[in-house]
Amino acid sequence: MPEKYFKIKRKETRIVRVGNVVIGGNAPISVQSMTATKTEDVAATVAQIKKLEEAGCEIIRLTVPDEKAAQALQEIKKQISIPIVADIHFDYRMALQAIESGADKIRINPGNIGVTDRIKAVLRAAKERSVPIRIGINSGSVEKDLLEKYSYPSAEAMVASALRQVEICQDFGFDDLVISIKSSHVPTMILSNRMLAEQVDFPLHLGVTEAGLKEKGSIKSAIGIGSLLWQGIGDTIRVSLTDDPVEEVKAGFEILKSLELRKFGLDIISCPTCGRIEVDLIGIVKKVEKKLGGVKKNVTVSILGCAVNGPGEAREADIGVACGKHSALIYKNGETVAKIRESEIVEYLVDEVNKWGN
Ligand code: SF4
Repeated sequence: MPEKYFKIKRKETRIVRVGNVVIGGNAPISVQSMTATKTEDVAATVAQIKKLEEAGCEIIRLTVPDEKAAQALQEIKKQISIPIVADIHFDYRMALQAIESGADKIRINPGNIGVTDRIKAVLRAAKERSVPIRIGINSGSVEKDLLEKYSYPSAEAMVASALRQVEICQDFGFDDLVISIKSSHVPTMILSNRMLAEQVDFPLHLGVTEAGLKEKGSIKSAIGIGSLLWQGIGDTIRVSLTDDPVEEVKAGFEILKSLELRKFGLDIISCPTCGRIEVDLIGIVKKVEKKLGGVKKNVTVSILGCAVNGPGEAREADIGVACGKHSALIYKNGETVAKIRESEIVEYLVDEVNKWGN
């Protein structure tokens, strides 16, 4: 979209480096996902990460439940190019092994790993290797005393839990932190992150947890993550879907593209159709999306059913189509350049997009 449109002003946060990706500051909001393979199955895990990389994933999290998984990270890292986050719960030895294996970030809550010596050991190892830590608060795992105090995993309880973890890290002189507060209850997820953003300047990782199957999960995530991003809150995102993780990456970029926070590949603007339609617009848009779905260059294409809104949208897009009776007017950079038949629209657009910017 042209510069004249409203732009979201992002809250300034500290910079955290995760391998070659920067989170926070003015860095682009990164899109993350998580593998669904057994981490110790190196071939399957690498294959899934490569598919995710191809889809645009910028940071990948892997579960590290045992030593085999922690050691596998070493081999996995050699075969991929995006940073790895090791997801650790409770066992500090897995955190140490994951750091040793080259993890670029650790997701762990220091308060869950037991006695002081263990916390110290993990934070020391992370500091020595410049490995940041993500503190991850989930509505399902808020500490018992906070649940008693607040009676349920409220926004206040989760913020208190996050601040407690931050304090533990800072007491040991460690503050290379990213924080996430996730809940499957969208209003609570929004409120807790907003409250947290008022109290810390650490970068925030946003996500609606256990959001469900693709359609429902994408909508829940778009509302939860999108509401915060609109307020300038959030530095990296993960959409959690009960589906192939590639769908999480696609949904993540759609959220960022919708708010004009990132440009990523083809952006199709199309109308819902109505009684004025005189072409098979739904069929045309589906075919264009299928043929051009993998395009990496940033191009906006508007495909509208008639002259009511077609020319107006076309003026704002890189390439525009305003359909008429079994025909279409084509616009480039707002200027009419051709009139073609309905049967030619798909191929014409595919050709134009492929040539765009060459
Ligand atoms: S652009 Fe035309 S066909 Fe499409 S919804 Fe609007 S009025 Fe109907």
